[in-house]
Order: sequence, then structure tokens, then C-alpha cells
Amino acid sequence: MLRIEDALDIILCHTPTLDEEEVRLAQAIGRVLRRDCVSDLDLPPFDRARMDGYALRAKDTEGAAPGSPVRLRAIGEAAAGRAFDGHVNAGETVRIMTGAPLPAGADAVEKIEVIRDLDESLIEIEAPVKPGQFITPRGVEARAGAVMVKCGERVTPSVAAALASFGAARLKTSRKPRLALISTGTELIEVEERPGPSQIRNSNTYSLAGYAEEAGAEVSSAGVVRDDLDATRAAIAGALSKSDVVMLSGGVSMGDYDLVKPALSDLGAEILVEKVAMHPGKPTVFAKLGEKIVFGLPGNPVSVAVSFHLFARPTLLKMQGASDIYLPRMKAYASKPVKGAPPRRSHQPARLVIRDGRAEAEPLKWSGSSDLVAFMRADCLIVVPEDRQSLNEGELVEVISLRD
Ligand code: AMP
Ligand code: MG
Repeated sequence: MLRIEDALDIILCHTPTLDEEEVRLAQAIGRVLRRDCVSDLDLPPFDRARMDGYALRAKDTEGAAPGSPVRLRAIGEAAAGRAFDGHVNAGETVRIMTGAPLPAGADAVEKIEVIRDLDESLIEIEAPVKPGQFITPRGVEARAGAVMVKCGERVTPSVAAALASFGAARLKTSRKPRLALISTGTELIEVEERPGPSQIRNSNTYSLAGYAEEAGAEVSSAGVVRDDLDATRAAIAGALSKSDVVMLSGGVSMGDYDLVKPALSDLGAEILVEKVAMHPGKPTVFAKLGEKIVFGLPGNPVSVAVSFHLFARPTLLKMQGASDIYLPRMKAYASKPVKGAPPRRSHQPARLVIRDGRAEAEPLKWSGSSDLVAFMRADCLIVVPEDRQSLNEGELVEVISLRD
């Protein structure tokens, strides 16, 4: 039985990096960048008004006070997309809208709310304006030529917005890992069907497809295969022929009908991991066939989720060249005692809450590793070290967030 760290080492050191692919920005969301991205200009590209109001020379407003206002002559207008092309001289001002370039000569903006319009071209101000007020100076957000997003970062929607501003129309990203899912189990039926005696609906395909897509994979499902060696072998062979990763659920424990490992051996795959000292998720299988990866994850719905997050998620991200492949870990106070499972490290589904300003992990009431109803509400896992029978209520514990 391998320690989690050792299993992960073996898995990651057998994980190839996929080829690059150039895509348009709109297609890049969720993908991993394979080049640093440089801004092609200063951002903002000009000194920009942050308010609707008047652009002016701060010096002109020195000494302005209630009862002794300063008067300025309005000589034009600057709007977003339409600059004022003249010069603001002493005693002059330009009406300006949010997003417009600051006119030459002006060094501040005063907002419309505190300005009195005397007529079309004369305004009054009753307080001095500081130089630079309500201006976003050119280049404070980004400098032309600077690396703004690093190779290995994932393109989130907000990164995409920044990349759009940097002119990154096409990007070198990782190809998406193609992942084929197979659920094993003679007892499994599809969601549309009503289970007969001793049948259950296939649920793992849905959780795994979602998790894998969130990790950047392109997922296809090969459906359910019954517990039969020939059928399992054929399903794996078929899935391997059109994917980079085959992910099975079920059929990896010690029962007479757990046929994933025999099928993999028949196909000539090298089984590198088959048991990990963890709970739930002990019978986690990792195998390689050439450059292709096979995960045989446990069948129980909670075990499969824990095993996916601990092993498959970092693998998929590493394949894409991501620099940050692990889920966030943090400390929180356990709101109730938590049972351990020595000598295995245990992962208790929990919810992270902020109570009285401190982070608490609230273990969910669950009936065991089949309890997908309880797991539905989990957003983190409480880690119980392998040498602990239990964690105490109020103890500061390690938590793995299931949200990245
Ligand atoms: P196994 O690892 O094949 O022995 O499966 C362990 C438990 O998980 C059994 O109770 C299975 O019925 C259940 N199970 C296996 N595959 C699935 C699946 N795709 N969806 C829901 N439950 C499953
Ligand atoms: Mg089974």
C-alpha cells in the first residue's frame, strides 16, 4: 500500500505533457497557456477620466472655497472614444465623460455633482482640486512589453478579459486532454431507467465528467460495461484508441468481479499504482500503456470523487502544463470530532463556514463512502492524519478545498 505522496510522485512522473495548440481567445477559456503573454501597449493607453465631470488645471482651483468660488470657461467636450484635441489653458475647462482621454494641459477631473453650471460655457467650483484627481494614469494597469500572464496559468474569464486588452487574439495553449469514461458494474443502469432488485443507477459518469471538464479535459463517455473480462478488455481497448486518458470507475477492489486490473494486464498495460493508504479511495489504480494513461478509480461515489481530486485532477492539469496543479489547502477549526482510519489517511467530507470571524470545517453526516447524497453538499475534505484515531472538536485541522 503506497502513501498518498508516493503514489502521486509515481503518477506525476509518468504523466506526459500534451502538445500545444494555437486557439482564438474565445476558445482559450479554461485552457492552460504555454507561453508568457506580454501586453502590446500601456494600459490604460492614455490618462483616462474616472468620472463624468470637468477636466481642469488643479492650479486654477487653488483658493476656491464656499462663498468664493473659482470660475472656469468650458471650451469643449471629451467623451469615451472622442478626445478633445485642443489644449486647456489657464482659466479653462473641458467637459469630460468617464473613459475619455484627459485633454492636453489638464491635470485633474472634478466630478459633475460638485460643479455648478452657470451657463453653457461657464462653471463654478467651490473647493480646490488635487492634481491627478479622478484620473487613471497611462500605464498603471500594465506596461507595454511586460509579461502579464505567465506560461502555465489557466485562462479564467477574468484573465481572458485582460488578455483581450493586451491584444492577445490567438494564444498558444495546451491541447485539451481527451478523456474517455467507463463505468463498470453489472448492477448499473442508466438514469432514465428504474432500478430492479439489486440494480443501482450509474452516477459516477456524471460526477467524473463534470470534474474532468472543470480540470480542462474533453470528455467522452463509453457508458457502462458489465463485470465481464472480455467486455471490460474490449471497452478499455476501444476507449484507449480515441483518448489520452481512460478513466474507469468500479471493479478495482478485491471481489471476484473486480476485473479492471486483469483486463489491463491482458492489454499489456503497466500497473504502477493499485492501493493507496487513504480512506476512502484505497483501491486507486494508475496504469500506463505507451503514452496513454489509465485510471481505475473505486466504484463508491464518494471514494471516486476523493480519488479523482487527489490524483486525477493534478494529472490532467500537469498534462496541460499547468503550474498550479493542486487544490488549495488551508487550516480550519473542526466543529465536531472527526473519526480517522489508521494506518490510512482519512478524508472526511465537510463544509467550510466562517463563524464569528474564524474558519470552521463542519463534517457532514455521512453513512460512508457510498453516501453521494451527503457528499453533494461537501465543499472541502478534512484530512485526518494516518496516525490519528480521531480529531477533536475545536482542533485546528488541515482542509482541502474542493473549489479551486
Ligand atoms: P466496486 O468498486 O465495483 O466494487 O463498486 C463499489 C460500490 O460502488 C458498489 O456498491 C457499486 O454498486 C458502486 N458503484 C460502482 N460504480 C458505480 C457507478 N458508476 N455509479 C454509482 N455507484 C457505483
Ligand atoms: Mg463493481
